[in-house]
Amino acid sequence: MAPRLLTALEREALDMGLKLRPEFVAEETSVRPPILPGVSRRFGGTVKIPRAFLRIFSKDELRCIFLHEVAHVKFRHLLKDMAFAAVLLPFALALTWGNDLFFLPSIFAVGVIVLAFHRRFEFEADRFAADRVSREAMIDVLKKVKGRYGEGGLLNKISHPGVQKRIQRLRR
Ligand SMILES: [Zn+2]
Repeated sequence: MAPRLLTALEREALDMGLKLRPEFVAEETSVRPPILPGVSRRFGGTVKIPRAFLRIFSKDELRCIFLHEVAHVKFRHLLKDMAFAAVLLPFALALTWGNDLFFLPSIFAVGVIVLAFHRRFEFEADRFAADRVSREAMIDVLKKVKGRYGEGGLLNKISHPGVQKRIQRLRR
């Protein structure tokens, strides 16, 4: 199933004008894939999906996982995160430059604000996948991810809404 599925997913992205190649990779415990390293809307790239997902998720669920990542690229979510940081950072620097007490915390605060701002993009990506596959499949993905990985580390908790919230949003 794997090669055929990969071809089908690649074609689906191509139909949206995105050159995104899904690829199954060995699972690393330190990274919670799928991740989008160095992927751009213009030049495309590889969406890495842990090979173990083939055992855990159905075909529809794998499609949801891929399309969720496709949405991040299609809607330029990571670029928007960076643009937001680029707007906030000069303010933080200007306000706290030379102030030993507030300089580093203000930069940290910008990071937290940007990650929190990113949350809305997760809802958007979930919805995008649910609309194309099915709401049930996307909800099952979220439940299984939570069962296997929990809610993730601190960074993930700041940048991602809780699984329960994401499911509620999909049911609306
Ligand atoms: Zn996401």
